[in-house]
Amino acid sequence: MAEYIITTEKEKWEVICGLEIHCQIISQSKIFSGASTEFGDDVNENVSFVDAGMPGMLPTLNKECVHQAIKTGLGLNAVINKYSEFSRKNYFYADLPQGYQITQFQYPIVGEGAVDIDLPDGTTKTIRIERMHIEQDAGKSIHDMSPTKSFIDLNRAGVGLMEIVTKPDFRSPDEAGAFLRKLRSILRYLGTCDGNMDEGSMRCDVNVSVRPYGSDEYRTRCEMKNVNSVKFVMQAIESEAKRHIEVYENGGDIAQETRQFDPATQTTKVMRKKEFAHDYRYFPEPDLPPLVLSDEFINKIKSELVELPDAKKARFVKDLGLTAYDAMVICENKETADFFEKAAKGHDAKKVANWLMGDFFAMLNEKKLELKDSPVSAENLGALVELITSNVINGKTAKDVFAIMAETGENPEKIVEEKGLKQVTDTGAIEKLIDDLLASATDNVAAYRGGKVGLFGWFVGQVMKQSQGKANPQVVNELLKKKLG
Ligand code: MN
Repeated sequence: MAEYIITTEKEKWEVICGLEIHCQIISQSKIFSGASTEFGDDVNENVSFVDAGMPGMLPTLNKECVHQAIKTGLGLNAVINKYSEFSRKNYFYADLPQGYQITQFQYPIVGEGAVDIDLPDGTTKTIRIERMHIEQDAGKSIHDMSPTKSFIDLNRAGVGLMEIVTKPDFRSPDEAGAFLRKLRSILRYLGTCDGNMDEGSMRCDVNVSVRPYGSDEYRTRCEMKNVNSVKFVMQAIESEAKRHIEVYENGGDIAQETRQFDPATQTTKVMRKKEFAHDYRYFPEPDLPPLVLSDEFINKIKSELVELPDAKKARFVKDLGLTAYDAMVICENKETADFFEKAAKGHDAKKVANWLMGDFFAMLNEKKLELKDSPVSAENLGALVELITSNVINGKTAKDVFAIMAETGENPEKIVEEKGLKQVTDTGAIEKLIDDLLASATDNVAAYRGGKVGLFGWFVGQVMKQSQGKANPQVVNELLKKKLG
């Protein structure tokens, strides 16, 4: 990784960053009640007495949420703790009717793990995971519907969350961005969180500090809460790091505080002084027993895990001969990887990858289509590549055939057959075209033989044109060389 150092007139600075990511668990019902987790339903439609914090209501742990958390922990290559506990985190807020959040504190369900990230320069780096715990989400306060009133929607109250905490391993905005994309990819492969940051189902808190380059101290950090896109996370790190540097270089000191990043101004502003763990008076949740997991339960989930992006990527490189970069791009999204594998089956995988990442993605982009709505099926893309590999059509004709496939969805063999696009490899037919050309273009032939060898390309072009693009370019080249020689 190219080093990311902020250099000023006074000093070289290194950026230190750690992330805490809240991920909504995919599950039919909430973590401690039977209410639905459906996004976008009518306000306060999915609220049980537990979610509303009615006195005397008892939470019941949803097994599906535990299942999903273990799956996620395994996907983060992390330790699954067979013993974990729920705790109460006490605080007052209007969208938290219980007056406390049920979370995990001292004993989280998932311990240390590791995630490899792919960096823009092609290298990889391991980011250490500190822990992951499960907890309930709060409701939503709505402050912009009335000038004098606030409203509360409790649909989100009690939805299961996984809070993933990394070690302070990021040294640049790029690394944090790569991590979030990788995490989102893993969660989507697992089906444990949809990873939609714009809908708030994945929310990122960003911790930033700086230190003089080469030192190993950790200086005071500031936290930016709920940054809601990968791009904004990267921008928030950069702007906050620059603020710290400016404060230090002007002789000031950084106070530990919670700040808010404003994408419009690319600055952060203070929200509140940092709270500490003791401010919440955490204590063990008396309404829920400790969570004790059996080896069988964990192993069963392990045995059902899907192949994750890193494993898939390694397999595509090893078995199908893709470059690491191509495999990484294709494996980021499970649907793309599945499509590719289907298309490549029985064909030249490397060529299929080139077509997929080139003309195919460009076509989807241009038509603003999602992969699942592609007019060109995986099988037909594979068949097109086969026609090129087996010399039935040349690369130029293939582009024309692909354009027709994108319009009609037809299979390439049929298009080639009907339009008579088969490549001419018959040397007799090509020889005739060359002879005719050399007989009529006598000036150029003389010039070529007189030393203007740059004209060779012109002869190739003319023969290709005469064949309506169907001549095998390799045969044309060979015969022309012989006849002009
Ligand atoms: Mn949390």
